[in-house]
Amino acid sequence: MELDFVAALLARIPADPRLEVPPGDDAAVLRPPAERRSVVTTDMLMESVDFVLGPDCTPRMVGHKALAVNLSDLAAMAARPEVAVAAVALPRAHGDAIGRGLIDGILALALEHGVTLAGGDTNAWDGPLVISITAIGSVAPGRAWRRDGAQPGDLLVVSGACGGSLLDRHLAVTPRVREALTIANRFDVHAAIDLSDGLSLDLARMMQASGSGAVLDLPSIPIHPDAVRMAALPGDDRSPLEHALSDGEDFELLLAVPPDDARRLAAEGTEITGTPFTVIGEVVAGGGLSARTADGRTTSLTPRGYEHAFDQ
Ligand SMILES: [Mg+2]
Repeated sequence: MELDFVAALLARIPADPRLEVPPGDDAAVLRPPAERRSVVTTDMLMESVDFVLGPDCTPRMVGHKALAVNLSDLAAMAARPEVAVAAVALPRAHGDAIGRGLIDGILALALEHGVTLAGGDTNAWDGPLVISITAIGSVAPGRAWRRDGAQPGDLLVVSGACGGSLLDRHLAVTPRVREALTIANRFDVHAAIDLSDGLSLDLARMMQASGSGAVLDLPSIPIHPDAVRMAALPGDDRSPLEHALSDGEDFELLLAVPPDDARRLAAEGTEITGTPFTVIGEVVAGGGLSARTADGRTTSLTPRGYEHAFDQ
């Protein structure tokens, strides 16, 4: 019998006061937190584009990632995750087992972050697995982080370390939700973005939105050990630093922060959030990116990263 993915998922979610009309009706009715704004984001993962199911990529891992990438976007807005809905196209072959694995992955992460599931849709077809999750968060009015607020003089701060996520981290995404909420309460953040497509490309997007440029201080960029491993693979012609600058799916936070707060965040970040924060450059007047090397020279930097390709 075909698994009703959404019904099975919802049956395992406890009743939640945020849902005035729970799932099971034509639509759910949300009770938004008083005096807060709703923040909405959606993300779709497609087998063979975003993942390939196999021993190293289980349905549970896909379910985790499908919710995690949404939570990462909410974190980048300093929003508290509240509610999610899920839509899936299950392959007919092994659809039941795949659906159960997805549920396990979604549910574990949802419980961890206090997210309740409000509904969704299940389809089965002869194509590959596709899953789309929409997440809704909340933030106090005027307090959402945006991409367009970076100002010349701000320092750029990144969480964690970058590069090489494709080795295995790209599925085990840790959305920086708690970090974002803690920082939003204690530091002045002018602009934010989560690193989904590569540090240099996402930085370029934030600078373009802000109408500013940036100088990256290359020696200070935190390079993930996976970037070092990846650069050492046979046939890989990029350095660990190049991986850190251009590999996608780090899902770290990149913040533009006034200098005093930035230095304080770098000094105290690990203690107060459990995750290190590093100053990696500064925002400057004018457009474009440049890079300062260890010997003090500054060269222009071409943003590189992952972009979905399609015919024009
Ligand atoms: Mg994003």
